[in-house]
Amino acid sequence: MAGVSFRNVTKVFGKDVKAVNNLTLDIRDQEFMVLVGPSGCGKTTALRMVAGLEEATEGDILIGDVRVNDVPPKDRDIAMVFQNYALYPHMNVYDNIAFGLRLRELKGFVWQLTHWNEAREIKKDIDRRVRETAAMLGIEGYLNRRPKELSGGQRQRVALGRAIVRKPKVFLMDEPLSNLDAKLRVQTRAELIRLHRSLGITTIYVTHDQVEAMTMGQRIAIMRDGVLQQCDKPEVVYQKPANRFVAGFIGSPPMNFLEAKLVEEGGQVWVDAGEFRFPVVGNGAAKDAVGKDVLMGIRPESIFDASLESHVKPTDFNTFVAKVDVLEPLGHEYVAYLKCGKHNLLASIETGTKIAIDQEARFVVNLEQIHIFDKETEVAIR
Ligand code: ATP
Repeated sequence: MAGVSFRNVTKVFGKDVKAVNNLTLDIRDQEFMVLVGPSGCGKTTALRMVAGLEEATEGDILIGDVRVNDVPPKDRDIAMVFQNYALYPHMNVYDNIAFGLRLRELKGFVWQLTHWNEAREIKKDIDRRVRETAAMLGIEGYLNRRPKELSGGQRQRVALGRAIVRKPKVFLMDEPLSNLDAKLRVQTRAELIRLHRSLGITTIYVTHDQVEAMTMGQRIAIMRDGVLQQCDKPEVVYQKPANRFVAGFIGSPPMNFLEAKLVEEGGQVWVDAGEFRFPVVGNGAAKDAVGKDVLMGIRPESIFDASLESHVKPTDFNTFVAKVDVLEPLGHEYVAYLKCGKHNLLASIETGTKIAIDQEARFVVNLEQIHIFDKETEVAIR
């Protein structure tokens, strides 16, 4: 078992494509870390550097306490699962899972002839491990089938099996679920979490899907243009995003951003966006930023229909009136597109609401959940 560390790691492709820019990140032993970010942000490159498939231009990569920059991939004791899991089509499931082990542990045909007893023991051990792994993944009934005789989900499990059976120090997974349909993805997500819990192997998981990141990661590292933006537990990243990018990337529907100014009146700091003017609560840093142009961030789920019972009581200071432009039913809630003066906002509204398209209604905002970002630097003021 081992943690993985990036220390000031940069990867430049060609002359000037900085795919990863001065990345410092410590992934703890047995941790499930998700690297997430939009396409091209450098997450795959970061993963490939751990695997040894790309060389770092600068900085150190450590597995455990060992600097591995110069260690060949096969000696790093890692296993990688890709989106395109490329099973061997001519081998059955059993052989697909056993292949890597045989290659590693049975040292060639001649060796097997000269070390017959030893080879027999190793083969027995491989057989036990393949069957154990298949049972763990629920594919023990398919061991004799070829990949083409399996569903996408079953194939993905064989690919996982191939990685697990080696009991590596570190798992690297690059969008391993993106070939699966939505339902199977959710199911396999849960299976992977369970598997991680029972094996306890340090895992780095790459995805562009923020929901996947939030649901799977013990911590998540959000990247943008090669630069790490924030790394923390999912709930912290959601509740205390470090900057506007993270705030907009995490959460669905996305956070609303309104151009505003911080002003002080009678000892109270307000965030003022014209039609939206709210007292700032629980944010000590806002006082020092009075006078600044800012972005007020309000998550759709921090807005409630004021006519419904909720834990946020409407007052003179936390409500606004808006016209409902579009109402999208999602079954468990509505996504309402609201218009208020020059501002457009999204709100997640509970079912049972009486709000209707083209009509005005009163909404209440949870003031404790308002985010404020410096307009220029986009860094959170908190
Ligand atoms: P995706 O989710 O689309 O896979 P990503 O976040 O994993 O994206 P990377 O694949 O790491 O991003 O790519 C980061 C940047 O490096 C991109 O601008 C990409 O075009 C560039 N890049 C990646 N591999 C190479 C390469 N072999 N040669 C040149 N540029 C590359």
